[in-house]
Amino acid sequence: MMGNVEGDITLRPRRLEEYVGQKRLKEKLQIYLQAAKNREEPLDHMLLFGPPGLGKTTLAHVIANELGVNIRVTSGPAIEKPGDLAAIVTNSLEEGDILFIDEIHRLSTAAEEHLYPAMEDFKIDIVIGQGPAARTLRLDLPRFTLIGATTRPGLISGPLRSRFGIIEHLEFYTEDELALGVQRDARLVELEIEPEAALEIGHRSRGTMRIAKRLFRRVRDFAEVAREPRISTARAREALDALGLDALGLERRDRVILQTLIERFAGGPVGLDTLATALSEDPQTLEEVHEPYLIQLGLLKRTPRGRQATERAYEHLGYPLPEQPRL
Ligand code: ATP
Repeated sequence: MMGNVEGDITLRPRRLEEYVGQKRLKEKLQIYLQAAKNREEPLDHMLLFGPPGLGKTTLAHVIANELGVNIRVTSGPAIEKPGDLAAIVTNSLEEGDILFIDEIHRLSTAAEEHLYPAMEDFKIDIVIGQGPAARTLRLDLPRFTLIGATTRPGLISGPLRSRFGIIEHLEFYTEDELALGVQRDARLVELEIEPEAALEIGHRSRGTMRIAKRLFRRVRDFAEVAREPRISTARAREALDALGLDALGLERRDRVILQTLIERFAGGPVGLDTLATALSEDPQTLEEVHEPYLIQLGLLKRTPRGRQATERAYEHLGYPLPEQPRL
């Protein structure tokens, strides 16, 4: 039977050993998980950071599964009022369970302050009644583990940060790791793929597992329409080219960012907001979604005076190098 790739649930790794890459982090996690199990205590609160699509949410699910506990998923923006947090933690958490808060840097200050006693002493204050008759009630909570995920560790306040016992970042994946992720999905949907084709997908996935998996689905479309039983490297290349991905895996949008920087701002340095305005892009998206990989590839640099295109960016896009020596 063919599995369903888009509806993804079954493709999520369930065990740490199925979770590809992030070797350094996994080694530490094995120890933390084992220690928590031995002590029969909940895992310490954990903050995961790194660019989107590296698998933070997936890892939180894997951890819950490894510990044999439930996971409750929410996000910073979803917890507007302190009462929202109270509703989640008092209704649905049991001893040892995981509360996963994505985009935890976007919690309101009020909600964040409410979280402190919950994290530290497993207690939460709820307000009963209104106006002068309002009273605060302090409720005991089951001892749970908070896993917070963020793309912006710099925006996490000191007091919140200090309440996490484990703070870890996820790294971009290597091409080989991305290829492994692709091969795993291919196996699960019972499709054959040439190892070289999986590597080609890995090569153009910007170090990001989510992108590798998405590209695999598109390559699979091409192969199936061509009635190709085994995905060949040529077919993978054709599909990836058709998607507008260049040899470094940059999409049109990434190239436009660099082109704008080079053509409109003489390669920079230019401030984030100015660049975002020129691109009609939201500065946060530019900074969190597009820039990390451009920086990782050495095409863009963040300097104190703003964003700057590197020599490599000029070369990659085929522009003559500027007169002044660059980075
Ligand atoms: P983040 O929370 O960091 O933005 P994510 O966990 O939401 O990322 P997904 O979009 O869930 O990332 O990942 C896309 C797909 O890739 C999912 O099917 C997920 O299970 C899978 N995946 C992510 N990381 C890994 C990994 N390291 N090994 C295997 N599969 C992975």
